[in-house]
Amino acid sequence: MDTEYAADIASESMSEGVEGYFWPAEARKVHYMVDGRSLCGKWMILHGHSGLSNTDGGHAMCVGCERKRVARAS
Ligand SMILES: [Zn+2]
Repeated sequence: MDTEYAADIASESMSEGVEGYFWPAEARKVHYMVDGRSLCGKWMILHGHSGLSNTDGGHAMCVGCERKRVARAS
């Protein structure tokens, strides 16, 4: 899959309006995803949201994600 195609899918998108905690296998921190993107901007989920959780699972939060998540909530 080329990057242009991936961007199209992300913008279309079936992950719109979906949010939750996400911890990629290769990441040490939990990120908070909104509309398929992490609030810190480092991660993106293209397909669905089956990996999202409504809890941080007790893992350490990504600082960038957590700061923005708190800001949104207030
Ligand atoms: Zn993050």
